[in-house]
Amino acid sequence: MRETEDEFKDVIIIGAGFAGLCMLHRVRQLNLSARVFERATNVGGTWYWNSYPGARCDVESLDYQFAFSDALQRGWRWKERFAEQKEILAYLNYVADSLDLRNDIQFKTSVEKAVFCEDRKIWQIVTDSGETTNANYLISAVGCLSTPSMPELPGLSSYAGRWYHTGNWPQQDMDFSGLNVGVIGTGSSGIQIIPELAKQAQSVTVFQRSPNFSVPANNHQHTKTFTDEYYDKFLAKREQASRTIYGNASWSSYPSALDVTDRRRSEIYEEYWNKGGAGFMVSFADVLTNPKSNEFAADFIRGKIDSIVTDKALAKILHPTDHAVGTKRICVDTNYYETFNKKHVTLVDVRQCPIQSITKTGLLTRENSYDLDVMIFATGFDAMTGTLMRIDIRGIGGMQLSKKWAKSPNNFLGLSVAGFPNFFVITGPGSPSVLSNMVLSIEQHVEWIARCISDVGRQGAKCIEVTETAEKEWVAHVNEIAQQTLFPQNDSWYLGSNIVGKARVFMPYVGGIGQYREHCEKVAKDGYTGFKIS
Ligand code: FAD
Ligand code: NAP
Repeated sequence: MRETEDEFKDVIIIGAGFAGLCMLHRVRQLNLSARVFERATNVGGTWYWNSYPGARCDVESLDYQFAFSDALQRGWRWKERFAEQKEILAYLNYVADSLDLRNDIQFKTSVEKAVFCEDRKIWQIVTDSGETTNANYLISAVGCLSTPSMPELPGLSSYAGRWYHTGNWPQQDMDFSGLNVGVIGTGSSGIQIIPELAKQAQSVTVFQRSPNFSVPANNHQHTKTFTDEYYDKFLAKREQASRTIYGNASWSSYPSALDVTDRRRSEIYEEYWNKGGAGFMVSFADVLTNPKSNEFAADFIRGKIDSIVTDKALAKILHPTDHAVGTKRICVDTNYYETFNKKHVTLVDVRQCPIQSITKTGLLTRENSYDLDVMIFATGFDAMTGTLMRIDIRGIGGMQLSKKWAKSPNNFLGLSVAGFPNFFVITGPGSPSVLSNMVLSIEQHVEWIARCISDVGRQGAKCIEVTETAEKEWVAHVNEIAQQTLFPQNDSWYLGSNIVGKARVFMPYVGGIGQYREHCEKVAKDGYTGFKIS
């Protein structure tokens, strides 16, 4: 590497989504120099890449925003209960402009390699243009859902039509009027895009392998009075939310689904269903821990599908039966099941009739061929570790992160990895991340990392690294609490099982963000127990 010419920064951050923007702002407040490398042409992360029709948040927009600046929050008004992608992207642009962040962000630049130089205790970061930058600290803000996963279907290169992945959607608006469109995948992305495509396309054919549980969003516009009142209580609500399990202050549960009569149970599910949103998952406190309670919730949703979808055989194909509700992230939809009542929408059960290949004109299953002008892959992501493991990150002794994590993404608090000093991961595996309101979790991580860097500097030290012992203990704790829930019992991207060859390990921390935050605070308060500072 060309050491003498290399630029030096106190901190290098990879990614300019919610996490990267927040981290950059916080690092600047410490009077440290920083650069963000971002492979997109603009800020936004998830909300830049997933611009497909129907994309919107499933955490309420008023909660899905930063809390660290009163001015930022008062200068923005969310229009809807669940904001659409364009509005969230506009918000992140507003954040970048208001905080004047752009001049420290280098767009269209991918970080390909990062090597820790043991003698100088610095990171050397190499981008796709071959440029090298040195830094004391390397911070990953690469996101949990930022590497789209494409199924290996033979024949795609011969396909004459257009095809897109929802997680890498073109930036310009597209018109599907008059087209025959196929959609592969019925997770949250598929469930959001299908009703929107059905409004435009001549026909929509949905290729479903596993049906998912979905609940209605019951989305609506916010009135000014409502948002004003909400903002008056915003910080108190955020503080309250940060002590809960999932990061939502307005969610509350009934104790157990087993302790009430059948009639009362149905009334309670009905109440949560009508409220709309993923809060359905907390209707009873034991939905994700007690198989019987979970089955009650599953039955309720299957009953709803039957009541919405008029063709009874079709309704049955839409019944999720292969997993407990919530062990794959529950979907939040607007008119998803209703869409299957439309004559030009067809559901193909690819468990019964597996996809054999993509052809020049469309798609071939074991029983039929489908002519498609456009094919849309809503086939998910190599989640939580996939993006980071694609970067050649080398720690002490040249150890590669991808090798260290090949069997399990071992780390401490989801923040720090033994053998990789001065390296932090925002919302890494082993933290609540994707099981929480992500913005809340991102802010908590950013604050912890900033405090840590500042404390290390104050001690006159240059290097902080977690010990193998602390890492082992944390991983054991994460696994132990996961085993007390239903999560590890079913395949999902939480376990990496959607990716061929990926180690099957339950990755998020399920103890709740309140409990998690206490762990992090204690570590910092006690002088960074579990870390070596030198
Ligand atoms: P991201 O937004 O993923 O940003 C990471 C950035 O890093 C990307 O811009 C990427 O280009 C960049 N990057 C990655 N690798 C490199 C590299 N090597 N070099 C340079 N740049 C790199 N969470 C919720 O809490 N609520 C929701 O409602 C919600 N809805 C979602 C909807 C969709 C469609 C998806 C995919 C995810 C959703 N999530 C939701 C999760 C969402 O990812 C987070 O809420 C949040 O946006 C993550 O922010 P981030 O900054 O950590 O990562
Ligand atoms: P996903 O949940 O992983 O769903 C992928 C879908 O593609 C599944 O239905 C999967 O079927 C199917 N699939 C994959 N490979 C296939 C193949 N070879 N043949 C047929 N079907 C195949 O991905 P996602 O929908 O993009 O969602 C990922 C996560 O992003 C969500 O869980 C959520 O956290 C976030 N997200 C949130 C929202 C929101 O509402 N705010 C919207 C989109 C995404 P199997 O289940 O059988 O594998």
